[in-house]
Amino acid sequence: MSKYSINENGYYGEFGGAYVPEILRKNVVELKENYLKIMGDPQFQAEFNQLLHDYVGRPTALYHANRLSKKYGANIYLKREDLCHTGAHKLNNALGQILLARRLGKTRIVAETGAGQHGVATATVCALMNMECVVYMGETDVKRQFLNVQRMKMLGATVVPVMSGNRTLKDGTNEAIRDWCCNPANTHYIIGSVVGPDPYPDMVARFQSVISEEIKKQLQEQTGRDYPDHLLACIGGGSNAAGTFYHYIENEKVRLYAAEAAGLGLEDPEKSAATIHLGREGILHGSRSLVMMDEDGQITEPYSISAGLDYPGVGPMHAYLAKVGRTKVLAITDAEAMTAALELTKLEGIIPAIESAHALAMLPKLKFGKDETVVITVSGRGDKDMNTYANYFKLA
Ligand SMILES: *Cc1c(COP(=O)(O)O)cnc(C)c1O
Repeated sequence: MSKYSINENGYYGEFGGAYVPEILRKNVVELKENYLKIMGDPQFQAEFNQLLHDYVGRPTALYHANRLSKKYGANIYLKREDLCHTGAHKLNNALGQILLARRLGKTRIVAETGAGQHGVATATVCALMNMECVVYMGETDVKRQFLNVQRMKMLGATVVPVMSGNRTLKDGTNEAIRDWCCNPANTHYIIGSVVGPDPYPDMVARFQSVISEEIKKQLQEQTGRDYPDHLLACIGGGSNAAGTFYHYIENEKVRLYAAEAAGLGLEDPEKSAATIHLGREGILHGSRSLVMMDEDGQITEPYSISAGLDYPGVGPMHAYLAKVGRTKVLAITDAEAMTAALELTKLEGIIPAIESAHALAMLPKLKFGKDETVVITVSGRGDKDMNTYANYFKLA
């Protein structure tokens, strides 16, 4: 085991653990005792891999972005998670978890969602597997992300608007956990990122690790070497970054960069979602990590133009990797992300999700050698963000 892996108690350094109400202890233990066994079962792997291929559309392309490369003076490749079915990397994890839930005999799924992407991915796999699906979503987000609400409903999910707190992702998550507490026997909670109590962070990272598994193969084919010099991803909870970094964490020749959302800047914590820069150690949604909180320890409402990055916590793995210096974390403002989104659109004809644009916005802030290889994960496509883009760029 390496210094970067999770330990048997579910900690990355001092971050992680399983802080759950007594009533969920049994579920969390059941998951912990079974997830590696089930994921390692050849039959499970065969079914998962087949669906990743035929249903999700994997492997996703690793695309050499010519004009972007010219502009930044390096060999830049895009890992195209935007090409996944439903528009983002989230389906990799939702699919893996529902297959696992079925093997544990669960018949009902609950999930939280903020921007609605994880809710859509979960509703999608529930339709596929014919399972009951309840998605908790803050009422503010229900209004902001109406298209995704309609998608979830068409897919057969029940979308419950949550009226507590600021009525956003944190509140949806609280409510999903509450539901799980009431229905522990038949229900599995599909968490959408590398957050939550042990073993979720590690389980989700493993389901997303297909991203770096493919990058290795594809880079080898395209460049004759299976690792890049620089590897870039954005972080909300951190699942696309975890998947992007997974098979490279031990290879110290690969420099890892994560972009978190600075919103309007780091000066005002109420206008930012840069948890690693601004957060303090605390417990949120079942694990110890960095958390945005006020002086009294109350969780604060983060802000970012990107609905998928405004989470007040971050996966314990990322809190740890940043702390020990394995990753370099950059805070990207709304304006920087929007500029990067427009640049990718104009140079390569790819409209990224605003979340992904945060990763792209690191390019002008980093220095690359001329022959160096850079891989950026484009976590999702921009369709869901067209209203925001249209208003921001005043597209007629
Ligand atoms: C949800 C989402 C994110 C943020 O979640 P992570 O767990 O940090 O990956 C990033 N990009 C897109 C497109 C998303 O939908």
